[in-house]
Amino acid sequence: MRIDCHTHTRRYSSCSSLEPEELCQLALHQNLDAIVITEHHVQWQPSEISDLAGQFPQLRIYAGMEVTLREGYDVVMIGKELRDVGRRLISIAELTTALEDRRDEVFLFIAHPFRFSKRYGSRIQHVLDAVDGIEMNSVNILRAQHRRIGRRYTPDDDALYLQANRGRDLTRLYNTDAHTPNAVGTIMNEFEAPPPEDETALARLLASHQPCEMQDPELLKLCLDGYSY
Ligand SMILES: [Zn+2]
Ligand SMILES: [Zn+2]
Repeated sequence: MRIDCHTHTRRYSSCSSLEPEELCQLALHQNLDAIVITEHHVQWQPSEISDLAGQFPQLRIYAGMEVTLREGYDVVMIGKELRDVGRRLISIAELTTALEDRRDEVFLFIAHPFRFSKRYGSRIQHVLDAVDGIEMNSVNILRAQHRRIGRRYTPDDDALYLQANRGRDLTRLYNTDAHTPNAVGTIMNEFEAPPPEDETALARLLASHQPCEMQDPELLKLCLDGYSY
């Protein structure tokens, strides 16, 4: 399964210019099998997901949510019924308390961990200790800083990512964080498993398997050169 676990559409993310149908069309064109729509502080309702999925039967569509924590970091949640959890600004401790009785049914990953600060202080360490995964690459990470190794684009702060992963058993994810059409399908995760049935099954897969990173170097170059956000 090729999956992008971090995407935004215009429906609930005012910072995105992507129509949901456009996101799905482009994802299929880029050979993705699945996407997770992760709007800011809003989760699509199951009926909205099935309406969209009905138009794109070859694509699995899951609903997650991205929340900005009081600590200043962004965490993406993948699971069912997250609406009430992420509606307001909360801390990582409040978030994990809210999910306490179903923690194994919700996957949490920190998005673009070093986008706004290169400090590896106690605040980010608390967040890293509480989540299940870390976003190792995305268009928004690369837009801040990157280098090319052969045809591959990689963030320019290896030491920080190494430090963040040291001593922690985090799933390392590779997403787009797409807000624009040109980002869709540039970076994705590949798992040796078919698309799971629902968000809960996806959360369990993500918690227990490491994906490989896939990039489309030509498309990624176009996307990074033609900066628009
Ligand atoms: Zn956004
Ligand atoms: Zn995002």
